Amino acid sequence: MNLVEEAIKINNKKVDYFDKNNDYLKVGIMGGTFNPIHIGHLSMAEHIKYNFNLDKIIFIPTGNPPHKKLYNIENRHRYEMVLISIMDNKDFLAFDFELKNDKYSYTVDTLSYLKGRYKNIEFYFIVGADTVLELETWKDFKKNFYLSKFIVSERPGIKNDFYEYKLKELKEKYNADIFKANPPLLDISSTRIRENINLGKSIKYSVLKDIENYIIKNNLYREVL
Ligand code: ATP
Ligand code: MG
Repeated sequence: MNLVEEAIKINNKKVDYFDKNNDYLKVGIMGGTFNPIHIGHLSMAEHIKYNFNLDKIIFIPTGNPPHKKLYNIENRHRYEMVLISIMDNKDFLAFDFELKNDKYSYTVDTLSYLKGRYKNIEFYFIVGADTVLELETWKDFKKNFYLSKFIVSERPGIKNDFYEYKLKELKEKYNADIFKANPPLLDISSTRIRENINLGKSIKYSVLKDIENYIIKNNLYREVL
């Protein structure tokens, strides 16, 4: 069995178990394009899981977002890189339903689905500080605050006072449950990783070794569309 097959098999088992188990109370959701997934995502998820006592974290890669220019890579690749990156963590699992959809999936639809399917679970949607500044542009964004709590992580490059102000505003205006997390700051982005690959620069240590190998093997991010 190769690495991808193994990662798929392991994730299927985790998802099966998650579906059957009714004991989970607090579950984090990491939404993102993960193009590609990097150690910024992983280390933030791990930190938040422990600091907020979350039982599990579900990674949900988005379909192609309308506002993002993607390098021409298949959804499958983004998903497989997520699966490989989380395969050795028993509390990280991934759902691919947003990717199966032909259309772009909105967070509000994903959260409504999850709340309907897993009635006892309290969801915590995890975002970086840059994403907080966009929350109000999301479809039916007010509903998101009913459906889920939010955990916001600092992110290098995003001015603290600006996003603190935004947090306060979201709490006051919409009664949103938003908590702040302070994971180790890692100035890493998928955009920079894609650019570096394209320029032939190193991405070592920004992604897991298996992801670096996956990118090389599949010749990803060589051409900009
Ligand atoms: P891109 O540059 O393509 O936008 P990205 O690195 O921002 O990629 P996304 O997939 O867009 O990665 O991010 C998913 C979520 O993780 C977002 O909420 C984003 O704010 C957060 N995030 C990503 N990287 C970091 C980081 N280094 N520190 C804190 N939060 C991060
Ligand atoms: Mg981003």
